[in-house]
Amino acid sequence: APSRRKMAKRMGKNDATEELVSVRVAANVRPLVDKELASGAKDVMQVDVRAKQIQLLNHGDFAFDEVYAPSHEPARAKEEAERLYQQLVLPLVDGLFEGYNASVLAYGQTGSGKTHTMGTSYSPGQAVRGVVPNVLQDIFARSAKIQREGNQVSLRCSYVEIHNEEIHDLLAPDGPANTANQAGATLRKRSTISIRDSAGGNGSVELIGATEVCVSSLQDCVACLEQGSLCRTTAATGMNAHSSRSHAIFSITLEQKVSDRSNIHEQQKFLAAKMHLVDLAGSERAKRTQAEGQRLKEGIQINKGLSVLGKVISILCEASENNGHNTPNNVTSGSGLSHVHVPYRESKLTRLLQDSLGGNSRTVMIACISPASSNLEESLSTLRYASKARNIKNRPSQNQDEAGCSLQQLKRQLAEVRAENLRL
Ligand code: ADP
Ligand code: MG
Repeated sequence: APSRRKMAKRMGKNDATEELVSVRVAANVRPLVDKELASGAKDVMQVDVRAKQIQLLNHGDFAFDEVYAPSHEPARAKEEAERLYQQLVLPLVDGLFEGYNASVLAYGQTGSGKTHTMGTSYSPGQAVRGVVPNVLQDIFARSAKIQREGNQVSLRCSYVEIHNEEIHDLLAPDGPANTANQAGATLRKRSTISIRDSAGGNGSVELIGATEVCVSSLQDCVACLEQGSLCRTTAATGMNAHSSRSHAIFSITLEQKVSDRSNIHEQQKFLAAKMHLVDLAGSERAKRTQAEGQRLKEGIQINKGLSVLGKVISILCEASENNGHNTPNNVTSGSGLSHVHVPYRESKLTRLLQDSLGGNSRTVMIACISPASSNLEESLSTLRYASKARNIKNRPSQNQDEAGCSLQQLKRQLAEVRAENLRL
């Protein structure tokens, strides 16, 4: 007879005994860049990698789960990027293959190194590889191994950006790349992408209407990353000519049908999990970017996504302080927290990341920080924001169910048919 735990999963519920896992938060302090040096900015950070602490001049210490201090020295830069990947992200890739959802969020002001760290504007010859190319490389290497062992693996990816509270499909075949030429990138086709609760009823959400590309090789996947990154909305602001005022979300869905040989009767086990790799919009306040008109409007909207994210984090932290845990997604399990209202739906960003925050996901936040005196105020705000996020507790659970198997297969077939149509 199936165990209660299995039954609960089939009914789409998280088991109340699933382990609670804190959101892991790391700080990544980039070196001073030429522009900062030229303007006479001083380094105001004391980074203690061993103690996992950052001391900000006159503002005290901030502790994190990990702290990274990449330098301009190539060997050291590479070493730190690798350490970051190994310590923070690799465990999430392992989890993905065990059926656990995962999310990596890069947070920080424009110019603090989010895109550099995530590696979302990927170029093959790059000396230091960011998070996303490393993830892709590992996922494909592992998938190949699993397939060689006679199991089935399928991978799909999607890439969207949230800009002005609209979701844009960065992989749309007729997409943003073409419309971007028409009087600026903001004139894109109105988005028809929406977010809704997954059929499984386990508190996870899914994107409806976004292109999902079935990828069968690392090259395919890197091509998606490159295509999407080219499409991202960028426009000059007072702070950074290439500032991105949108949130970019690259998502990978991994499905596996593996033979479970632990039983006498060989059984097929179906595992599905998703990983979100998120390059958040700049966290600076609008006034600093000397934003005007449309830009100002965008600034406000971006702040909306990030400010709701801040609100969600605060509420989850309060809930975990009061109850020792915070699983408001998990209302069905009768955790006694159903009275806690978490405003996920107040912004597209938080709605999409709903299960990454207090839900069914293993989540890492990387706070990207400039060490320059000229950025002290923004750095302080990033350090505070990120310190707070350390208190969020998630309840990751393995996504394994037989009913979902056929549903997922249908979806994959649909995506394949769509891809086929596109080629015709
Ligand atoms: P963001 O995406 O947060 O706006 P970027 O990743 O574009 O910031 O980085 C801003 C600038 O800082 C770029 O010129 C980038 O090359 C540089 N930079 C970021 N991180 C590092 C690093 N670890 N080492 C050296 N330069 C960096
Ligand atoms: Mg960027």
